[in-house]
Amino acid sequence: MAAPIAFIGLGNMGGPMAANLVKAGHEVRGFDLSAEILKAAAGNGIIPATSLAEAAEGADVVVTMLPKGEHVLAVWRELVKAVPASTLLIDCSTIDVGSARQAHELAAGKGCASLDAPVSGGTGGAAAGTLTFMAGGSGDAFERAKPYLEAMGRKIVHCGGDGAGQAAKICNNMILGISMIGVCEAFVLGEALGLSHQALFDVASTSSGQCWSLNTYCPVPGPVPTSPANNDYRPGFAAALMLKDLKLAQDAALSTGAATPLGAEAAQIYGLFEKQGQGGRDFSAIIEMLRGGLQA
Ligand code: NAD
Repeated sequence: MAAPIAFIGLGNMGGPMAANLVKAGHEVRGFDLSAEILKAAAGNGIIPATSLAEAAEGADVVVTMLPKGEHVLAVWRELVKAVPASTLLIDCSTIDVGSARQAHELAAGKGCASLDAPVSGGTGGAAAGTLTFMAGGSGDAFERAKPYLEAMGRKIVHCGGDGAGQAAKICNNMILGISMIGVCEAFVLGEALGLSHQALFDVASTSSGQCWSLNTYCPVPGPVPTSPANNDYRPGFAAALMLKDLKLAQDAALSTGAATPLGAEAAQIYGLFEKQGQGGRDFSAIIEMLRGGLQA
């Protein structure tokens, strides 16, 4: 049996990720505020703990997968009290770069190595163990974390120092939000011009308009059978999560002075969509709001 791992936050992403660490032969102790989620995790071989400190006791590595920066910082403040300096702390949540850097500082204050390692690939990738990890932190922390991340993902990229993983994540998702709106606008214009969805797909997906939002995740039913458009826009990647990431990108743009006008527009459009009660639908359903002329 390999070294024990503590896993904090066993929700939609953390649950299957922790289960993949179990499958790789690790002893995994889990903690989540939800008793129901903890019970489900136990069904996948994760040893349920009654507290954060109990999960972390004696663990070589602690992984956190939590909703927001405030949750990560609250948990890491407790963790650094509970673990020795030899413990490696890895946060896989998507959070703002500032909070990620604060988490690294907390770890460094205790002498612990740490990594911010957000993921892309969604719940499907978490279950299949095919996530992409984008990591920020020291080279040593990265090398130490790599075998664990490889048990949960397929591509592991060291993006740079503290916070660089979160920076890569929000830049990537800003591209995704903007490109999805662009692809949707093209289909809406095509509809108005009497162009069939398939004809526009056949041309644009092999021309200069091609991108992931079109080729892999086409927002209209038909051309890409696996896209959420064929399943009444069930997520997939929920619009509320896209909005969260676009807001993180906007916070970062404001604090650094980077010009991201299309990112700001994308955040505004997904904000309107959420206001319409659509946050739980796949983010490609934004095409329906665009067809209606963007009324909130
Ligand atoms: P989730 O809400 O399903 O899971 C979060 C879990 O954290 C919940 O079970 C909650 O009870 C638990 N939690 C909160 N505070 C806690 C605490 N103090 N101690 C212990 N447990 C606590 O969310 P998720 O979809 O698993 O997402 C987790 C993170 O991954 C988020 O930052 C999200 O943005 C990111 N992410 C999600 C996806 C996705 O498709 N769901 C994709 C990529 C990244």
